[in-house]
Amino acid sequence: MVTNEESEHFNQLYPIKTVEEFKSDLDFLLKHFKPISLDELIELNKSGKRPKKNCFHLTFDDGLKELYTIVAPILKEKKIPATFFINTDFIDNQQLFYRFKANLLAEKYAATGMLDLPYGEEKTMDMLAETLDFSFNDYLANEQPYLTTSQINELVNDGFTIGGHSINHPLYKDITEEEQIRQTLESVNILVDKFKLNYKVFSFPFTDDGIKKDFYMNVNPLLDLTFGTAGLKTDLTPKNLQRIPMEENRKGIEIIKSQYLYYVLKKLIGKNTIKR
Ligand SMILES: [Zn+2]
Repeated sequence: MVTNEESEHFNQLYPIKTVEEFKSDLDFLLKHFKPISLDELIELNKSGKRPKKNCFHLTFDDGLKELYTIVAPILKEKKIPATFFINTDFIDNQQLFYRFKANLLAEKYAATGMLDLPYGEEKTMDMLAETLDFSFNDYLANEQPYLTTSQINELVNDGFTIGGHSINHPLYKDITEEEQIRQTLESVNILVDKFKLNYKVFSFPFTDDGIKKDFYMNVNPLLDLTFGTAGLKTDLTPKNLQRIPMEENRKGIEIIKSQYLYYVLKKLIGKNTIKR
């Protein structure tokens, strides 16, 4: 999340980067790595070869409007390609992520315990809000936290790439494998149809930790790439790439340096590869 503004729906969920911090992280990356597009990344993965230069591909999850208003203009200026992973239920502010509901209630009513409620308790949050006379629909209509169809169209026309991030952002460990597969393929296919995409990519909501081999065997033949958030690690599952989460209260340079350091340390004890 990049913004200089306060927010009532995610302030307790993500460490937020200011515009200046984001720009300086990008400048650091550009100094040491070559930005590549999703197409190049897919080709590189298919070829199984190492890139000639150290490179990076930027991705952003959750499909929030700040990607259109703040992030994309900066990336265009610096000529950096990126992929935005989107929850299909939230496009056009149709629905609100259950964690945002929890954050809103926690903020409004000083009830931090709300943040512990899991995906399965979303109905409870809806009932609580109703009791408190707080309307999530009014909040969605007034704040418009998510990207709209026309904004996504514009991003795609500008050369940015998009992918699925599940339908409504459940924690995959909490749902059945059948539902994991449905959430994955449906979200990707809705975007492919709606925005006429010729590639299929997906990033796991929260984490791919604990996802079984069987899941990948089902979805891998149907997708070009999937993305986890386990940091700098090798993944033995073909087509599943791990990303370095940049949402920390530290400078990008510090995050990247410690990722390299941990990779080397984990390699020494054989823990730098994810096996399933
Ligand atoms: Zn997410």
